[in-house]
Amino acid sequence: MDEREIIRLLDDAEATAGLCARADRERRRVHGDVVHLRAIVEFSNRCVGRCAYCGLRCDNDLVSRYDLSWETVIERAGCAAADGFRTIVLQSGEHPGLDVEGLGQTVAAIKERFDVAVTLSVGEWPREVYRAWREAGADRYLLKLEAADRELYGTLHPGMSWENRRRCIDDLLALGYETGSGNIVGLPGQTAEHLAADILDWARTPYDMISVSPLIPAAGTPLGDLDPPPIDRVLRVLALGRLVAPGAHMPSTTAMCVYGRQARARAMRSGANVIMIDYTPREAAAAYEIYERAACGSTESCRECTAATLDELGLSVGRGRGGGIRRR
Ligand code: SAH
Repeated sequence: MDEREIIRLLDDAEATAGLCARADRERRRVHGDVVHLRAIVEFSNRCVGRCAYCGLRCDNDLVSRYDLSWETVIERAGCAAADGFRTIVLQSGEHPGLDVEGLGQTVAAIKERFDVAVTLSVGEWPREVYRAWREAGADRYLLKLEAADRELYGTLHPGMSWENRRRCIDDLLALGYETGSGNIVGLPGQTAEHLAADILDWARTPYDMISVSPLIPAAGTPLGDLDPPPIDRVLRVLALGRLVAPGAHMPSTTAMCVYGRQARARAMRSGANVIMIDYTPREAAAAYEIYERAACGSTESCRECTAATLDELGLSVGRGRGGGIRRR
């Protein structure tokens, strides 16, 4: 698919059903009717960043900041492992005082005690830090490019550099991490050309994971007054992602829940093959407001809703770690 074709499809609301059906077939052909569940522990919401969309941005005073102890992180990973999860995702903001060694030891402890893959999502770091965590046992890393277009990236990320984000992604790939990227749909000033640039980046770069989420206007951020984009546009981006990167793992993000209960199912029928479930302890989860979340709340209710959704769709839960299958 070339750029012109991608732009045409992005702008064509009538194309949604056909495109999503194609992506659904592609997902089934490559990944089967198996969905991988990931458990996520958001261990700190401290952040030095000022990403225009993100509720964790440093000057958002509405947020009370927390750090989980490493013991708690390991304990939550243990709960998820006992519940059958084979991937644990550890996420935080761009933590100014992150205990780099402590995180490495935590990864090592989780890998030693439980039969799981560990994914980190803790932002931009020097290559040597990424190397140390990799050597401690981290298997995967999520660092969304957010926007492949430099100018659009620049308007949303004051004080950050697109080049450094790209450098981080290249380092992660070179260090042998299964690496995840992705974008946000519905950013102010974002055109079909911008989205096409994201999709072409996914086609070119050997990402193992690609996450497409709708913008959820978050309280206390400069974008707090916007509306989320139309769901069909988000689904078209997801479907195009599946078609250009068939082997990538693509979540039906929790952000989809902003469109109601059926939305996650629609994403699963538009190319997605992964669902993340929040294992952050409840009190902390309430403060990890990247954006306001659907009211469902608890880990248990999210698991139940997910199980019901997968059942309705005739999809089963993968038993393995659901690792990368893209050819490097
Ligand atoms: N600090 C880490 C983790 C960021 S939060 C990092 O920089 O990678 C994880 C993802 O949430 C981000 O990559 C961003 O794409 C998404 N996100 C943040 N705020 C959002 C919002 N308001 N709407 C939709 N997605 C959002």
